[in-house]
Amino acid sequence: MTTTLNVAKFGGTSVANYETMCSCAKIIANNPNTRVVVVSAAAGVTNHLVALANTPLTSVQIDDIVQKITDIELAIVNRLKHPEDVQEKLTVKLEELKALATNEEINFRDDLKDALLSMGERMSSLLFSAVLREFEVPAINFDVRKVLRTNSTFTNASPEVSTIKQLSHSLLLPELSHSVMVTQGFVGADDQGRTTTLGRGGSDFTAALLAEAIEAETCEIWTDVIGVYTTDPRITDKAKPLPELSFEEAAEMATFGAKVLHPATMEPALRQNIKVFVGSSREPEKGGTWIVRDCEHEPSYRAITRRKDQVMVTVKTPKMMYAQGFLQRVFTIIAKHQLSVDLVTTSEISVSFTLDNPPNTVSEKMNKETLAELTTICDVSVEQGFDLVTVVGNNMHSAAGVSSKIFAAISDFNLRMICFGANPHNLSFVVSNQDSEDVVKVLHNALFE
Ligand code: ASP
Ligand code: MG
Repeated sequence: MTTTLNVAKFGGTSVANYETMCSCAKIIANNPNTRVVVVSAAAGVTNHLVALANTPLTSVQIDDIVQKITDIELAIVNRLKHPEDVQEKLTVKLEELKALATNEEINFRDDLKDALLSMGERMSSLLFSAVLREFEVPAINFDVRKVLRTNSTFTNASPEVSTIKQLSHSLLLPELSHSVMVTQGFVGADDQGRTTTLGRGGSDFTAALLAEAIEAETCEIWTDVIGVYTTDPRITDKAKPLPELSFEEAAEMATFGAKVLHPATMEPALRQNIKVFVGSSREPEKGGTWIVRDCEHEPSYRAITRRKDQVMVTVKTPKMMYAQGFLQRVFTIIAKHQLSVDLVTTSEISVSFTLDNPPNTVSEKMNKETLAELTTICDVSVEQGFDLVTVVGNNMHSAAGVSSKIFAAISDFNLRMICFGANPHNLSFVVSNQDSEDVVKVLHNALFE
């Protein structure tokens, strides 16, 4: 067996149908180092499962969504040369899915939700392993729950890294000498064997965690873009793919809104110094981005990201002047309600901070309990309609002229908040959501074109 191991992860669009799965199979067949394959659910399936898990639906609506998922899976099975190999197993999984979807408690119990959400990955890994065997790859569908131990925070579980390593060494590694193990991203299990999930987009994280556990040299993230870009190519067609990025830069980009990678993906890569590749499974010949510890170049500006829908909270009290412990009380309340603060600015009598605002979460919590609790100690105002624009690069604190170039470029825009990151890799500002696209375009022009 090769001693250089590669973990290859394929996203939802890469395993969307039989054709796209065949492109992925060729990528795997061409690299003998690829011994662990991690897949997402076929494109669209997780969204359907989330709808089943979170929305109260009539039985007609449930049947309709279950049918849509069934159609996606059957379209793949029906193209297989030997559908009988997996048909029965798929039928069992579809029945399990249906039983969960129609469970009366599904909308209230997070453990049931996770069992349901895991079905997309569990079906796509089953089908993809069959496609791989058509390409003469000795592929086996492996249940990731045997090794991917997490805590019991359903729908957003945290991995238990050392247990994952132990379990992978005894249950996964020995198989790799004779088989290519195809497994599920996004899914885990707690110490009682209950199914958990890592949060939306978590399959990238799974790939990096398994790469760390088996001490792989590389981890490939195959998706529908030819790497990480200088900015979102949907904002400007001048965006360019980046040949290389450092772990820190990639982590900053993912945290501050770049959609290509799940933000936690870089943590295992960094711990184990695993080189991470991002490329397109449709066009593997176009290359992609290598994310590494030491880049050949460390430019002042590497990329611009945007994170939408930020909430800005301003807390104010005249007592704050000379007062001790006020900020601590504010942030204790925020932390208690599990809100995460991004940027903070303070003045003599007020403090403003931004919160991420994914639909149905922060704004709701902010409006009700959190707000009520904060108003017991100060005046609070909550403003919506902001986006966070971040320039990611190197030595942004120290290099002369780095920030002045940025501010000169966007002097026509009203910047509500400006913040250097706690590390030298980012400079962020809050702008109105009407301006943010233009801000990114103007900045991109000034820094990269
Ligand atoms: N299927 C999950 C999602 O759509 C996880 C992933 O694809 O990374 O969020
Ligand atoms: Mg993804």
